Amino acid sequence: MEMAKTLMVNAYCRNRLSFSAIPKSSKSKFSFSKAMASGSSFCPPVPTQFRCRPISSFPISSQYLVSFKCFSVKASSSTPKDELPACIGFLGLGIMGSPMAQNLIKAGCDVTVWNRTKSKCDPVISLGAKYKSSPEEVAASCDVTFAMLADPDSAVEVACGNHGAAGGMSPGKGYVDISTVDVATSTLISSRMKSTGALYLEAPVSGSKKPAEDGQLIFLTAGDKSLYETAAPLLDIMGKSRFYLGDVGNGSAMKLVVNMIMGSMMASFSEGLLLSEKVGLDPSVLVEVISQGAISSPMYSMKGPSMVQSLYPTAFPLKHQQKDLRLALGLAESVSQPTPIAAAANELYKVAKSRGLSNQDFSAVIEALKVKLEQEK
Ligand code: NAP
Repeated sequence: MEMAKTLMVNAYCRNRLSFSAIPKSSKSKFSFSKAMASGSSFCPPVPTQFRCRPISSFPISSQYLVSFKCFSVKASSSTPKDELPACIGFLGLGIMGSPMAQNLIKAGCDVTVWNRTKSKCDPVISLGAKYKSSPEEVAASCDVTFAMLADPDSAVEVACGNHGAAGGMSPGKGYVDISTVDVATSTLISSRMKSTGALYLEAPVSGSKKPAEDGQLIFLTAGDKSLYETAAPLLDIMGKSRFYLGDVGNGSAMKLVVNMIMGSMMASFSEGLLLSEKVGLDPSVLVEVISQGAISSPMYSMKGPSMVQSLYPTAFPLKHQQKDLRLALGLAESVSQPTPIAAAANELYKVAKSRGLSNQDFSAVIEALKVKLEQEK
């Protein structure tokens, strides 16, 4: 385990909600890895270059500033099995949830699953997972329960709805929501979980289908620190690094900012591919040129060749990219931050959705531009 860096940053105070303190009596009952505890403790000597660096270069009124500690840790390569929580729940076995749960099982974890469409549980059950017929039953039978759901509505329904996970939570248990949702949704789920005496961690992921399969995700966590430490060995099985960002909401906000940038990048890349073709250039050569320069990105190199062939094998569904842009625009609105590029990109994804591309990969957004250009002829 290696402590990569510690940052003390100032950030906008996006919301003024206060979070109730975790009752001391509800401390996690799990045994913590000594290595994990030492590797993730706060306040090692902080190199000068990492101290008190404002996120924004704009002057910000002090009433909107809040300090929080952020650190990232690279994944540990091996965690003794006896240091893992005894039973792990997993709710939501879609493109991301299924390979993540499979990696936990392959690492020797005792995993219990639930998915709205039961047939999607079959691959993980065949690998050794147990099945329960509701999120409530999963949470009741597990120490730590992960949830990987489509959007805010499904995350709330599974956590707080009828026979939702909250019904099975109690002191000593933990709920880790790894879905991409907005700050308000995560705060709502946190409050509900904490009302049961359980702990809550939000931990949306950066990385797509392949990193999920390869255990190479990046976790953007925030919430109960002790649950973060308990869950760390599990996050390290599923991911390559993890960031602890402080209060609930910071993980969601970080994820939305990342995906806002990504959605705009893909929209701009799509325009470039089509423009190059229209002026008689080979878009495949454009992909190669970009890959060698300062704007190169693994995303362009990975998606470009199939986009040139109008193929969009789904890794990140377009409907989720549009959801993330919508939520990021809401976040920007909440602090009056102009985001005109993201707003324009969002419109393009909406057009793509209206053309029936919701379940295609988000790179299919290029099709929305093709339609537009054809209409202009
Ligand atoms: P997905 O394949 O569409 O899976 C969505 C999951 O949510 C499925 O298990 C689905 O159940 C469940 N679900 C949807 N509505 C539900 C409801 N009303 N009640 C209960 N369950 C419901 O999506 P994914 O790609 O795995 O993404 C999951 C989350 O991770 C999303 O928030 C996404 O934004 C985020 N994410 C995705 C990627 C990626 O590259 N794919 C990367 C990072 C983050 P059914 O099987 O019954 O439909």
